[in-house]
Amino acid sequence: MEKAISTTKRWFNLFLEILFPSKCLGCNKKGEALCENCINNLRLAERPTEDKIFALYDYRDPLIKKAIWQLKYHHYPHLGQKLGESLYFAFLEEINEIRMFSQGSPICIIPVPISHDKRKVRGYNQSEIIARNFCNCGEKNLFEFKKDIIYKKINTIPQARIENRNRRLQNIKGAFLIKNEEQIKGRTIVVIDDVTTTGGTLMEIMKLLKHSGAKKVIGFAIAH
Ligand SMILES: [Zn+2]
Repeated sequence: MEKAISTTKRWFNLFLEILFPSKCLGCNKKGEALCENCINNLRLAERPTEDKIFALYDYRDPLIKKAIWQLKYHHYPHLGQKLGESLYFAFLEEINEIRMFSQGSPICIIPVPISHDKRKVRGYNQSEIIARNFCNCGEKNLFEFKKDIIYKKINTIPQARIENRNRRLQNIKGAFLIKNEEQIKGRTIVVIDDVTTTGGTLMEIMKLLKHSGAKKVIGFAIAH
């Protein structure tokens, strides 16, 4: 039933999008979910993240907070497209660097999963939307989108709700499960998340992938 509701909601959003085309979330300019000007004015992430994790925007910027919230709860596909594209163009250097390790095979792109229950309610995973759009920016065979590798086993408390860093790491420990390991052995991988707080979720997944034989793993997030 919940699934039916969210599917209806998605169709409804699509219908609205056709009837009333996108307006910029920041300045209301017609035509785009986020206009070039507003994107260029977003505050970039400056606070350090964990090693091998790269975050693009500062989550304290109200517009980026609003954009992620809209994408997460209101399935705003054009926003996902904009954010995925921004991520790709911002981290071209890091992509080129990891590409050197891949020796000609595509770089695996893995979105941070949400639990089965959450997916049932929301109908989609926002990180998956960002990751798919990120993949679409690359030339043919540069990326390989993979969503059947990492699964979330349990419902954890949202990381942002926990103040203590150690408790956050504890909260996420063992929350993920890896499947189809043979597909990632010796591969280079970019894990994509929407928001990273302490980097705990990304680190946990990156560790799991490394232990399962991935050659090189890095993480990208829209905001930090
Ligand atoms: Zn704008």
